[in-house]
Amino acid sequence: MRPHVSREAASAIGLLGFQRPDANAPTVTATKIAAVALLGAKTFQNYIAGEWVDAKDGATFESTSPANGATLGVFPKSTATDVDRAVAAAKEAFEEWCLVPAPKRGEIIFGFAQLLTAQKEDIAQLMAREMGKVLPEARGDVQEAIDMAYYMGGEGRRLFGQTTPSELRDKFNMSVRMPIGVVGVITPWNFPIAIPSWKILPALVCGNTVVFKPATDTPFLGERFVELLAEAGVPPGVVNVVHGGGAEVGNAIVQHPDVPVITLTGSRETGVAVTKTGADRLKHIHLELGGKNAIIVLDDADLDLAVEGIIWSAFGTSGQRCTAASRVIAHESVYDTLVSRLVREAEQLRLGVGWEDDTDVGPVINKSALEKIHSYTEIGKQEGAQLLTGGEVASSNGLDKGFYYRPTIFGEVDPQMRIAQEEIFGPTVAVIKVRELDEAISVSNGIKYGLSSSIFTRDVNTAFRAMRDLKAGITYINAGTIGAEVHLPFGGVKDTGNGHREAGQAALDFFTEWKSIYVDYSGKLQKAQIDTAE
Ligand code: NAD
Repeated sequence: MRPHVSREAASAIGLLGFQRPDANAPTVTATKIAAVALLGAKTFQNYIAGEWVDAKDGATFESTSPANGATLGVFPKSTATDVDRAVAAAKEAFEEWCLVPAPKRGEIIFGFAQLLTAQKEDIAQLMAREMGKVLPEARGDVQEAIDMAYYMGGEGRRLFGQTTPSELRDKFNMSVRMPIGVVGVITPWNFPIAIPSWKILPALVCGNTVVFKPATDTPFLGERFVELLAEAGVPPGVVNVVHGGGAEVGNAIVQHPDVPVITLTGSRETGVAVTKTGADRLKHIHLELGGKNAIIVLDDADLDLAVEGIIWSAFGTSGQRCTAASRVIAHESVYDTLVSRLVREAEQLRLGVGWEDDTDVGPVINKSALEKIHSYTEIGKQEGAQLLTGGEVASSNGLDKGFYYRPTIFGEVDPQMRIAQEEIFGPTVAVIKVRELDEAISVSNGIKYGLSSSIFTRDVNTAFRAMRDLKAGITYINAGTIGAEVHLPFGGVKDTGNGHREAGQAALDFFTEWKSIYVDYSGKLQKAQIDTAE
């Protein structure tokens, strides 16, 4: 059954038909999406075993736009019963999917890449409404998933193992990657298309099946993702989506005995809870958690470049990237100039709805995020940091319909203050003054997280010291803290994760298990470590 979407609404947003993409087809315009918001009665369903189905007990929740409060859709508020159905479907589908040749699985993912490419603008428009990010960033979010689809589709013809000599004669040794089973995919709202792609696409190409729970703030985008996978030819049961909250649906996936693998991107607190829940069943758990990333600006830095990199990293996506720069560590000789230029640039940023061309900074995701961000402004002031700009909710010119916060910069921040230690996940940046490189590196490392790091310097020796000494999963030289590419490992050290990585070849290690195979063609019993070959 198709989702319960009114026909006008569905056609306006390309939900009907599962047609092959037509590159020349008109894209959804802002007007059409606005019309969708007015049509009402847009009720979506879970996708289980290739069927669109309501939650068993019929409860629902709404997805509303953080930009203007418009209701975008009504989604099933599922429970453990719905998770049971989805896991059963995924478990059954695994038996066949793991036998589909990997190149064939890769071809289906290539088809998904083509569909996403054709739908890129429509999905970006939807993202600007459901998640709030500005259109260029929303397009980038979709592009990242397209890149990942091409990269992981190609893995269908690689998925390399190793062959290696045996210590005995007439014996052949190799290792191969084996699929594991049902993967539980739990995602946040801040990259609502890219992050599902980092998890679901490698899981699929490796031969696993999936039960996917999108964030409750972005269920519409999660729904679109799965629809396109189905349209690309992913068989029934191979990918299932169950909408609903973390405490009900997420927790039920983590607890389920038939889901051996969990991949979560979210907050540190959720990561700890998921780890504890999964421990009793010794689940494979992959965590991508919070960050408190810093940009170091040394006395020899190109200041124009540094200012640009800081503004983009701190206020892009309204500071709601796990890799956002929320600390700037400035050499004392450039501190005053840097701070005054940052304040000037921040004050020129235009807040507004993400789908308008002249918007620089969109809304934050919801009311509780807005309140949390503002509470950190109060904390910063109480701690004695100097509020240089921002620090308030923006509500003029119609912004009161959404959740907007002015880009905020604190100066004279002590590295131990809470605003310099805790993840705020909003457009707030703390500037810390240091005297030399060692101090800068020590301040950068002096937090519990370790995701992204950056340094602006023209000295190659300094750059290499930073590459070695910054304790983070990612280091940028002369660039901000954001801008990961899909073919390199992505993830962080310390409390940002639990040692796994997504993207790149590293992702394959999480979604497969190694099997070592020994083929003895000597025709006699040879004993490793006991017999000696001559
Ligand atoms: P969140 O932890 O509140 O939620 C993430 C997901 O987990 C959601 O789908 C939620 O419903 C689910 N969930 C919540 N409690 C659960 C439970 N007990 N069991 C199972 N699932 C549960 O995070 P968020 O607010 O959606 O996202 C913001 C956080 O994500 C920030 O901390 C940010 O740094 C982090 N993040 C990290 C990365 C990374 O790659 N390191 C990327 C993006 C976001």
